[in-house]
Amino acid sequence: MPFKTFFRWDLRSLILLLTLLTALVTLLNSFHASYRVQYQLLIDNALEANLAYASKLASSTETYLQASQQQLAYAANLLARDFDDIAFLDAEAARLRLQTNTFNSVIVTNAQGVVLSTSPDTLQIVGRKLQSEGAAAALRERKPLISSPYISSTNNLIIFVSHPVFDRGGNYLGLVGGSIYLKHKSILNELLGEHYYKNGSYLYVVDANRRLLYHPDADRVGTIVGANSLIDSFAYRQSGTQRVINSKGQDMLAGFATVPSAHWGIVAQRSTEATLEGLNDLLLSMFAKTVPLAIVSFILIWWFSRIIAQPLKQLAAGAHRLSEPETSAHIQGVRSWYFESSELKRALLIGLNLLHERLGKLNHDIQTDPLTGLRNRRGLDLAVTLWQAEKRPFAVVAIDIDHFKQVNDRFGHAVGDEVLQALAELMRGCSRDNDVVCRSGGEEFFMLLPGATPEAAARVAERLRSVVEETTFETIRHMTVSMGVAAWPLHSENAARVFEVADEQLYRAKQGGRNRICVALADGVKSSA
Ligand code: GH3
Ligand code: MG
Ligand code: MG
Repeated sequence: MPFKTFFRWDLRSLILLLTLLTALVTLLNSFHASYRVQYQLLIDNALEANLAYASKLASSTETYLQASQQQLAYAANLLARDFDDIAFLDAEAARLRLQTNTFNSVIVTNAQGVVLSTSPDTLQIVGRKLQSEGAAAALRERKPLISSPYISSTNNLIIFVSHPVFDRGGNYLGLVGGSIYLKHKSILNELLGEHYYKNGSYLYVVDANRRLLYHPDADRVGTIVGANSLIDSFAYRQSGTQRVINSKGQDMLAGFATVPSAHWGIVAQRSTEATLEGLNDLLLSMFAKTVPLAIVSFILIWWFSRIIAQPLKQLAAGAHRLSEPETSAHIQGVRSWYFESSELKRALLIGLNLLHERLGKLNHDIQTDPLTGLRNRRGLDLAVTLWQAEKRPFAVVAIDIDHFKQVNDRFGHAVGDEVLQALAELMRGCSRDNDVVCRSGGEEFFMLLPGATPEAAARVAERLRSVVEETTFETIRHMTVSMGVAAWPLHSENAARVFEVADEQLYRAKQGGRNRICVALADGVKSSA
């Protein structure tokens, strides 16, 4: 069976469908919206957290570097007093190295860069001239410097922090400097390495020449970073956040800050994937929290759609069976609790009443003789059928106007019709409510008297006869009628036969001289004048 004929949309399904669609669209929309919001929130949070972390580390590193320079400045001041005393220089170098963990090694040189003292003294470079780039710059410029990282003679990646030594007269005596290892254990290394590599985040540090000073992958320390838009931005930004693709092609959320005195950049970053990991769980738990409420609303919608659709459904069913007698009561019983349904109900009831009224009138019309308003032959048959079904005995009086032809001939057909109407009026006057008075055609009439014996019917007929005889009609003045009486089921079980008997009695009355009544009795015939 094709779907179309099998399934029929009704109001309730439509309400349900519409509401469910709306709910679904709203739900999906809110899921999508919260997904977008959460997504952005997670990304923004990660960027902010990385920025905060990079900034904190940059400022700690800055403080640390400045403190180390301050230590050297203080030492330079002391050394200037006794620069010739090698033992004093040794003691001061050792103090600088050992008092704090700042420097991995400390050296003192004269103005030409020849090493005067070292700590530890195992370095074995006393008396040699410093060759490193950092040292050369410090000797040349004669001011406090932090070198760029470089590979030392002992094959360590180091930075060299130095301070010039001037005597009281302002003459340049040399420098005191400390090296800090970047790859090996040092305070700087610890400071940067203290990061917890949970949740897929890490940090790295580059110098102004894009050389990696710190990286969780120790092998990369000392190498130069290639193209990287984030590092490019250090040139014009002190700090900030950026979403970048790292050297391994991973999408990263980075926060960065620079260390001003060393021109280093510190980058803290976390992979976008790891950042967004919780998002699906979040949505899932949101979904789980939505489901019970959604079920409750569905039940409510289901129930409510029923209540809305019910009256219309009942009214539609009623409209489908307008002709059935109990429909009116059914419609009357519909609980039309909202405007449209109550209007429909009202309209249906009005329509139904009108229909019944029309039907009743039609029914009346087809049973009625238009000239006299009495029943016609069909109306008479209906009454007989009903009484027979009810087994209700009745008497039949057949009535015929005497010499009616002459009335028509003398006064015309119209006057004849008026006489017929006047006679009908008289017959009505002589009958009771339950009696059926009928014009069966022409100037022939019947009166049916339910429950009447032939004798009783004869008395009614006699009354009519005398009333007609005594009545003065408008144009024709006087006329008479003849009648025949029979009874059902007295004269025959067959009603048609009973009418024949009445007609026979009427014929006999005519034969007998007219203006009289003949009654058929069960055991004979009696006429009365
Ligand atoms: P009788 O006493 O033997 O009954 O004589 P009658 O002249 O009445 O004879 P009959 O019953 O045979 O005549 C019927 C006449 O009734 C014929 C016709 O002119 C007249 N008639 C029949 N139907 C109508 C009608 O609808 N209107 C009028 N005005 N006259 C009718
Ligand atoms: Mg006749
Ligand atoms: Mg007649």
